[in-house]
Amino acid sequence: MSKIVINHDICTLCEVCIQSCPFNAMENLNGKIEINSNCKVCSICVKNCPEVAISKVEEALFSVDKSLYKGVLVIGEMRQNELHPVTLELLGKAKELAKKINHPVLCLLYGENPFDAAHLCLSYGADSVYLLTHRELKFFRSDISATLISEALSNLKPSVVLIGATSIGRSLAPRIAATLKTGLTADCTHLDIKADTDLIQRRPAFGGNIMADILTTRHRPQMASVRYKVFNPISEIKHPKGTIKNLPISTAHLLSSINLLQIHHQSITDSITEAKRIIVAGVGVSDSEGLKLIHELADLLQASVAYTRPLIEKGLASYTHQIGLSGRTVQPELLITVGVSGSIQFIAGMEHSEHIIAINTDPNADIMKVAHMGVVGNAYDILPQWIDALKEGAYRV
Ligand SMILES: Cc1cc2nc3c(=O)[nH]c(=O)nc-3n(C[C@H](O)[C@H](O)[C@H](O)COP(=O)(O)OP(=O)(O)OC[C@H]3O[C@@H](n4cnc5c(N)ncnc54)[C@H](O)[C@@H]3O)c2cc1C
Repeated sequence: MSKIVINHDICTLCEVCIQSCPFNAMENLNGKIEINSNCKVCSICVKNCPEVAISKVEEALFSVDKSLYKGVLVIGEMRQNELHPVTLELLGKAKELAKKINHPVLCLLYGENPFDAAHLCLSYGADSVYLLTHRELKFFRSDISATLISEALSNLKPSVVLIGATSIGRSLAPRIAATLKTGLTADCTHLDIKADTDLIQRRPAFGGNIMADILTTRHRPQMASVRYKVFNPISEIKHPKGTIKNLPISTAHLLSSINLLQIHHQSITDSITEAKRIIVAGVGVSDSEGLKLIHELADLLQASVAYTRPLIEKGLASYTHQIGLSGRTVQPELLITVGVSGSIQFIAGMEHSEHIIAINTDPNADIMKVAHMGVVGNAYDILPQWIDALKEGAYRV
């Protein structure tokens, strides 16, 4: 890494650097030229300085000793003593990653009473569960939780930290990453690990137009958040052997600047993320006739209805019914898309569904690449036939 340095003993405050900088990165602050965060280290100021007072210097790259960090750790999410199911999904992935590098699977739980949840985590793959428990942790407050978890991670020194990309996880993860001065990749859709313990964190980038593999090569722990329903839990272990250990809590860390005024209870999951069958309506069936057919089919199949983003933007349903990168991630047993092209942003939210059937007039639509069965044709012809057949009892639902 390089940076620009000013020798103030030589600088005459001629301000040529300020005038020549294309990024407005040079300022005269109280009679001293300073470089602000706009600096792109382009070196134009170095070339233009008549006094040769500015230079570009190479900084030695900082790198931690990776061998000091051991374990793939999942930060479990507790909401008023209830464990969010994303924790078990992350433990499943943690077990797979840990096996590849021969590290243990760790879990960190915080809350007022996380003991039952701790046993559940052992049954779903954790070798050790660490608890931060105190009555002050009954309700989530980002400042307290982030401080306590950051301190625990500094001591436990895991190589990898996984956290659910829930509203709580999204609030916690950047605070922890900033405290530990490490990298965080949000909303990963795939995770793998190299033999040297570098975590391969794949996620959509540039508005979802490419899938990027992100590595945290010089810092530890490597932090990644993953949405609910992206990974699968392992089958429950009948007689788990792992251990549960309480971590000390300093009362000074329990002071919060957040005052809880009211608690509104909300289900930790919602209808489409939990649905076993989903029919997705896309632009191809977005008129009233198309949507009527979609709802009729959904009723007959006892399925939930979801939408692509353009239909949500038209106000046809709440955003909680949108599937995709900026909507929900789902993994039902059966997902039928109707009039959906299969944009990369949509596919990111449904590609792990067990059975995918796509109805589309276009045989080359991208959705056909992820569908297990493609039906090429006009949905306005196909859906009435399916509906009639279901009404006549031709299929068992
Ligand atoms: C940052 C970002 C985030 C995004 N997030 C999301 C997201 O979370 N979810 C999401 O859905 N989108 C998202 N989008 C938008 C996404 O890029 C697409 O625009 C959107 O998914 C397209 O929706 P669609 O498939 O319904 O429509 P279209 O792409 O217009 O596809 C319509 C399809 O219907 C077919 N069709 C037309 N008529 C019929 C018929 N009679 N019978 C059968 N088939 C028919 C056509 O062949 C076509 O394939 C995002 C975009 C950006 C930039």
